[in-house]
Amino acid sequence: MGSAPLSIDVFVYPMAPYNSPDNLGEGEVATWAPMSCTLISGPTEGILIDAMLTFTHANAIAEWAKQFGKRITGIYITHGHSDHWLGLGPLLEHFPEAKGYAAPEVAGRAAWEAEMNKTTNYWTKRFPGELPEPAVVPEAYASDEILVDGQVVNIIHVGQGDVEGSTVFHVPSADVVVCGDVVYNNVHMMQFEADDAKREAWIASIDAVAALNPKIVVAGHKSVDAPDLPKHLAASQQYLRDFTTVANRGGTVEDLVHGMLELHGERDQQHTLWISARAEVARRA
Ligand SMILES: [Zn+2]
Repeated sequence: MGSAPLSIDVFVYPMAPYNSPDNLGEGEVATWAPMSCTLISGPTEGILIDAMLTFTHANAIAEWAKQFGKRITGIYITHGHSDHWLGLGPLLEHFPEAKGYAAPEVAGRAAWEAEMNKTTNYWTKRFPGELPEPAVVPEAYASDEILVDGQVVNIIHVGQGDVEGSTVFHVPSADVVVCGDVVYNNVHMMQFEADDAKREAWIASIDAVAALNPKIVVAGHKSVDAPDLPKHLAASQQYLRDFTTVANRGGTVEDLVHGMLELHGERDQQHTLWISARAEVARRA
């Protein structure tokens, strides 16, 4: 049983263009949000949280993670959105001792997304030639406790994030929570699947993270070099509240985008705001 706290290191893959099939708004540029992968490690072992999407992402994560010289025992996924786990197949090839795991509800959603992509090519269209096929879906992990060099990491089933059935990873010895897309850090928050009621549930999920009183909060989507601070909990909640307020004024997609940019224009990844605004206006119809 080690006594030193576990270490946390975070890799961010920067915002990058992708092949969007959407009709873009005025001034809109199709970029994929910057994404994080977190290494939680002790003296000899480590686990990775989230696997991103493409071969390029997986290779970049592996090159970064190998520098730490830890035996990677598992790759765990926070939620079922494919941009957090489709990279699992190629990433596992870099770490043959590891397995890909997720909470049962996350593994279930990932399996559903894999099937959805077979019929709609949703992901394949956006990243042609860049995705491993067939997809390696994470296995359902039966416990809520992971041991890394004898120290505990807890899986917490918070529920609603930018998708329902989201989990976060709490590292009590280091006062860290790795949040996936329950928390965003200086990046526009995806509302494609979140209406007013789901935003309220999402705000409650963030309260559940705040109740752990973390000193370090790692967001699934974060700007490169943005510090992993607890203030992003309240900032994410404010963004969600502001989105509801601005959306409920009515108006067009452009009105919603511009209203949010007045309040949160410093955030990266405006394309996500456009997608969220189109979905919100479509829900009203
Ligand atoms: Zn995401």
